[in-house]
Amino acid sequence: MPTPFDHAMNQLERATKLAFFSPEFLERLRYPNRQIRVSIPVTMDDGSLRVFEGYRVQFNNARGPYKGGIRYHQDTDIEEVKALAFWMSLKCAVANIPMGGGKGGVSVNPKTLSAGELERLSRGWMRALADVVGAHKDVPAPDVNTTPQIMAWMADEYAKVTGETNGAVITGKPLDAGGSEGRGTATAQGGFYVFEALRSELGLPEQCRVVIQGFGNAGEHAAEIWSKAGHKIVATCDSKAAVRNPDGLDIAALYVHKKSTGSVAGFAGGETFEGSELCFEPCDLLIPAALENQIRQDNVGRVQAKAILELANGPVTPDADDALFARGVPVIPDILANSGGVTVSTFEWEQNLNGEHWSEAQVFEKLKTMMEREAVGILNRSRELKTDLRRAAFVIALERIKDAMK
Ligand code: GLU
Repeated sequence: MPTPFDHAMNQLERATKLAFFSPEFLERLRYPNRQIRVSIPVTMDDGSLRVFEGYRVQFNNARGPYKGGIRYHQDTDIEEVKALAFWMSLKCAVANIPMGGGKGGVSVNPKTLSAGELERLSRGWMRALADVVGAHKDVPAPDVNTTPQIMAWMADEYAKVTGETNGAVITGKPLDAGGSEGRGTATAQGGFYVFEALRSELGLPEQCRVVIQGFGNAGEHAAEIWSKAGHKIVATCDSKAAVRNPDGLDIAALYVHKKSTGSVAGFAGGETFEGSELCFEPCDLLIPAALENQIRQDNVGRVQAKAILELANGPVTPDADDALFARGVPVIPDILANSGGVTVSTFEWEQNLNGEHWSEAQVFEKLKTMMEREAVGILNRSRELKTDLRRAAFVIALERIKDAMK
């Protein structure tokens, strides 16, 4: 099975057929600047010792410090983190923020850890990597299964190890620990601005039937934002099950249900079904907001959505991209659609460096302007090049990285 990094390199190759990039530049982009693996010993609550494997991949810093989240997942490995770090390099260029690309992770199912074990693991990650991160070197953030609380532990650990107390070393912190207004919802909010900027151009109705895969950091906020704007969330899922209601799910009630039971399964306001079937529900807009490799050559024929917006990183494989393009189903690519998260992370970093605190209205106004501008730029470029949105986004990102590398 091709890895996410194989897919990333495949995407790079396809996009670079559309514009001139030197072979030397492309060769450079196939290798991360640095890949770091560390062992993180953690004393468990029962007194035993477990060693976890942690990662940081620093892909490209031509445009600024490495930037990207830290993922806690049982399937995470260095190959996945490398792909995610590559995508971050392009994403920050698409968003036109002064950041390079990096990513981190730990191979762990955090749901099996107590709060104390999670804290010791998170502090351990930072202790092991404190010499390679830094406000002007490499700035981590949340990703799958990591939270503002985890960022706060890490920021605190960094301060203890290095004596530097400026929070700009890590973003996605809680508000009272130097976080930014709006960071929690930024990924979904940014995706929504992109959707609004492109909706009519992509032939989508004013009120869409929306399916959201994932009810975590990105998905749960997307459900809230799209439904508040008058769209119908007809199905969603978490790692345990999916739930559908063709008349639209009551998202506030679903959120309460998930908080109290730990899953969307069994929600009274809908019908529970198999999570693996979620992406094939009929809808106008499908929003994958979970993990990579969800829509592939072997299942793309079953996708009924009229358009896809990738809040997850890498959910649609290159083969599936081609099949969707041939069918006229636009895919709004991850490096544009979910770049609102890292954009507001960069606002947080700026606020920390300058000792400022911006209001939520300021944050969202800036975010909206930036997302709309890049979305329209990518749409126009895709029309000029007669290609899909992903290739157009890649070309724009690569041009920006190339300029910085000169
Ligand atoms: N993990 C998020 C992403 O994949 C956010 C990264 C950040 O804020 O640095 O874009």
